[in-house]
Amino acid sequence: MNTFRSFQELKSKLLSSELTCVEVVKFYLLKIKNHNHNNSFIETFDESALDQARMIDVQISNKNHGRLSGMIIAIKDNICYENHNLSASSDILKDFKSLYSATVVEKLINEGAIIIGRLNCDEFAMGSSNENSIYGPVKNPINNTCVAGGSSGGSATAVAEGLCIAALGSDTGGSIRQPAAFCGVVGLKPTYSRVSRYGLIAYASSFDQIGPITNNIDDAALILEVIAGLDENDGTSSSRSVPVYSDLKPEKEKKSIAYISECFNHEGLDHEIKNSIFTKIKSLKKQGHLVSPISFPYLDYLVATYHVLSTAEASSNLSRYDGINFGFRISNSVDLNQTYISSRTKGFGNEVKRRIMLGTFVLSAGYHDEYFSKAQKIRRIIKNKIDAIFKTYDFILTPTTPHVAFKIGMEHKDPTQMYLEDIFTVLANLSGNPAISLPMKNHSSGLPYGLQLMSENFTEESLLTFSKEIHKNI
Ligand code: GLN
Repeated sequence: MNTFRSFQELKSKLLSSELTCVEVVKFYLLKIKNHNHNNSFIETFDESALDQARMIDVQISNKNHGRLSGMIIAIKDNICYENHNLSASSDILKDFKSLYSATVVEKLINEGAIIIGRLNCDEFAMGSSNENSIYGPVKNPINNTCVAGGSSGGSATAVAEGLCIAALGSDTGGSIRQPAAFCGVVGLKPTYSRVSRYGLIAYASSFDQIGPITNNIDDAALILEVIAGLDENDGTSSSRSVPVYSDLKPEKEKKSIAYISECFNHEGLDHEIKNSIFTKIKSLKKQGHLVSPISFPYLDYLVATYHVLSTAEASSNLSRYDGINFGFRISNSVDLNQTYISSRTKGFGNEVKRRIMLGTFVLSAGYHDEYFSKAQKIRRIIKNKIDAIFKTYDFILTPTTPHVAFKIGMEHKDPTQMYLEDIFTVLANLSGNPAISLPMKNHSSGLPYGLQLMSENFTEESLLTFSKEIHKNI
């Protein structure tokens, strides 16, 4: 059996009884065991995956199977799956077991997807290289001396390596799209509120979204169709009905696309990436699309605004890990206060502590107006500008990242440098819009990079349709 690059390929074999789901699960479990040198999988869920597979084989033979029957999906280690370990790649949650399943996991399982295991990530999804993990860094599948990107580095690598058909990641500032770009796969961050966050370990709740990482657009569309929708357990989830994303028709219309000049003039942007995306722009124009430069004068404020707001939310969200309620507790403490302090000091890694402290600082009485309130106002200005752009244009096009994957260990020591990695991705989280990273593969280093498309809120259908058109011509 060979690894499947699309669910469609596998589905036809399952439905024609050429393969059973149990055979497929056994194949993937073995493949993961023998090919985990990139450190993407933390754990496989052998028993439950095989139980699911047996059930799905019966459903297939009875012809009452779901839309995802047999799809091998792995989940980032910050998404709850009942009775399965979950750690957010942090010592503070080591040995913790989920008491319930995230809504997305329930929805996937109800449609017959098989949850094969959990994937390495940056601790509490904080990072851009997957080096902030108690399990060690994830290695880039194309060049093992480079990072996989973060924070969903395990998800992108596992999909690129063919260790699963698709993976779920979470994206607070780019964590689905940036690793997808570094690993040469498709990464979709849906509109904020499109997908329930119930059962996702919260980092920054007004930014976090769960989304798919896949080898192709059709798989991303199908997964989104299953996981999207209103959920009474997430008060921010949207009540809009979910379109049939999976029935993507060929793009017939000519689109208007804006590209942000400031991104392309950015001094940190790799020249080959710049030139290659310009070549792409030329070919889009040739096909009759309207592609124009626009000015987005706030580019240099994005990362700072994101870090003030996301760390503020993180400092509040992570206060629940106190050594008392759940997770790790220091053993030899003398009183309650010391238990809190020592458990958190030992349980959290450096990057997480840095962000909790920064977030606490920007929310503190003397600095609230100067940082937190100001950043909120800037977020509003950014949102207004994006709304105005989408009055005229269908899509905003940028590179996903300024350059290809960097060497493991290179930027780890300099947090500011690392934060600037997210310069092109945080925009969609600040404004809430959907955004996708499409793989481009013609860089002289041999490493892939990403072309990012952003669209109006809740227009994933047209974003995916257009992406499919572009993806097939890359
Ligand atoms: N790399 C960004 C950060 O470190 C984004 C993280 C994410 O999207 N979870 O905050």
